[in-house]
Amino acid sequence: MDTVAAWAVCLSGAGRAGARALALVGVAVLLGLLVLATPARAGVALQTPTVDVAMLQGGSMWLRPLARTLREDAVPRPPPTPLALLQTDLPWQPVRDLEPIFGFGFDRQAWWVHVALRHDGPAPLELVLEAAEPLIDDIRVWVFDRGRGTWVAQAHQGDRVVGAMRALEHRHLALPLTLQPGQQVDLLVRVFAVDGEHDPLPLRLWRAAAFFSHAQLEAWMYGAYYGALGVLLLYNLLLWAGTREPPFGLYALYLGSFLLWNLTYRGYALLYLWPDAVTWNQIALVGFSAAIYATMALFAWTLLDLPRRTPWLARLQAVLALAALAHAVWIALDPQAATFATLDLVGLAMFGVLLLAALRVAWQGERVAWIYLAAQGSLLAGAGVYYAIKLEWLAPGPLALQALNLGSAGEFLLLALALAYRINQLKAQRDLAQGRLMETLHQMNERLEREVAERTEQLTQANQALTKLATHDPLTGLYNRHTLLERLTEELARARRHPQPLGLLMLDLDHFKPLNDRGGHAYGDHVLRQLGVLLHPPLLRTTDRAFRVGGEEFLVLAPDTDADGLQTLAERVRSAVHAQGWPHPDASIGWVTVSVGATLSRPDDTPETIFARADQALYEAKRLGRNRVAYA
Ligand code: GH3
Ligand code: MG
Ligand code: MG
Repeated sequence: MDTVAAWAVCLSGAGRAGARALALVGVAVLLGLLVLATPARAGVALQTPTVDVAMLQGGSMWLRPLARTLREDAVPRPPPTPLALLQTDLPWQPVRDLEPIFGFGFDRQAWWVHVALRHDGPAPLELVLEAAEPLIDDIRVWVFDRGRGTWVAQAHQGDRVVGAMRALEHRHLALPLTLQPGQQVDLLVRVFAVDGEHDPLPLRLWRAAAFFSHAQLEAWMYGAYYGALGVLLLYNLLLWAGTREPPFGLYALYLGSFLLWNLTYRGYALLYLWPDAVTWNQIALVGFSAAIYATMALFAWTLLDLPRRTPWLARLQAVLALAALAHAVWIALDPQAATFATLDLVGLAMFGVLLLAALRVAWQGERVAWIYLAAQGSLLAGAGVYYAIKLEWLAPGPLALQALNLGSAGEFLLLALALAYRINQLKAQRDLAQGRLMETLHQMNERLEREVAERTEQLTQANQALTKLATHDPLTGLYNRHTLLERLTEELARARRHPQPLGLLMLDLDHFKPLNDRGGHAYGDHVLRQLGVLLHPPLLRTTDRAFRVGGEEFLVLAPDTDADGLQTLAERVRSAVHAQGWPHPDASIGWVTVSVGATLSRPDDTPETIFARADQALYEAKRLGRNRVAYA
């Protein structure tokens, strides 16, 4: 008001000196006010919204709504100590909304977070500060006691930090701290993303008891989850080793990729499997997720027979799976240039195509594809709940928090079922094929046997024909000269053992040459054939044998024959021929006659001697006028 009055007096022109004095006073007052005002405003900016930890009613609270943040490019170089950051006049910004989780987006600068805590309660209070995200590249936390001017706790970890300083053996940064009654501390957090891609920072303050029971439950859940996956993996590996069925092996590979990816993604790998191997951890994260896409594709191919059933979708899926693999290699080679987001996009596209393909196969009536879809439905349901919680559409209950794990566990169990179903199907197909094969083999065998029997029969007949040709005379069908020697030797031996000797007749048609010449050769043959027919029972006994030994010369062996018998037989043969009356134009009698030389075997006979005797007798019969029997 003074200043205004002074300016009013001045303007009204009421006394120059008084006006000048007033103006001077006014300016002085103004300046004074300004001087006073400056430190006061600075004091307001520095003042931290202090959090009363009594607010921790529910066991934990998100710290973001109560925090201030500072981008590191506002920090002078060289940077002061973390504590000095709080005491210097830097542009800390209070958070102006109630979002629980920090998101710094893409920023190559580090960010600082400050929260002041005050404990007014009567007893010491045990707390745990948690940064519930294992993928943050680099995170440090200091807790300062400004009253004493020292830090009371600190931690430093992250999936790009070698030699992490973990306050607790936990996959997240978890820092225990105890507040005494009336104590006030400052939490100072620095997060940094190596590739500029900041992960979300879920900064949470717990009552220690609540944190540890939460951590215990979580450890139990993950233990059960990994245990189940591990058992499934081992079991399917054994099945594969036992059966060598590719689907089992591919399923085990898919499970293995998923298990390793999950262990890496959830921060357990860096905690337990390969601490400090941060470069490998980075490669593992992207490599295993690409392996998931690739093995998922291969497994679905063999399980659902996609290349045969939906060739185009299978081809598209192959291209996307290869793109995911190539992308993974790219990320591994140049982590700065490539991002996970595009890899996940390719993977999601492939997953979409896979679901479409499975749907088509299911539509074709393949039950195993329905089971497969149910499995992927379980995963999708889990993922749905997971993202619903992330987007705050759902309250994060302990079971809902495990939704993704439960969904994927359900997926793997259903896939195992689908696999069992498929293997059964393959077995049934194989049994059917084997049955058909056996049937065909059986038929072929039968045909072969039939053919062999036919050929054997033909061969036997041919053999018989050959034998007959070799042993018989083709014109008359009687035994030939070739067989005679054999039979004669045999019969002579037999005659020596028997009381009765062997009778032998030698026949020669009379004047046959002229019959041939006059009647023709064909007629001669006809007569010879007729004689062949005649030299059988009843004219001969069944034990007698007739042979054709030359042109028109015949021989009869009659075993067990005495002299009377021989005479009877010889006469019977001669008169039989005579009785036939085969016309003979040159014969005085008018028909064909025969001369017979007959003899009985003697114990010392050889084929030659008995033969010669019979021949001699025949000669005698001819000499005596033919158509008669002569004996030797
Ligand atoms: P003989 O009363 O002295 O026995 O007078 P023959 O004419 O019968 O004399 P020989 O026994 O020497 O004659 C044999 C004749 O038999 C010669 C040939 O014309 C005839 N001959 C031999 N083999 C065959 C044959 O296979 N078929 C025919 N049609 N005639 C044959
Ligand atoms: Mg003759
Ligand atoms: Mg003759």
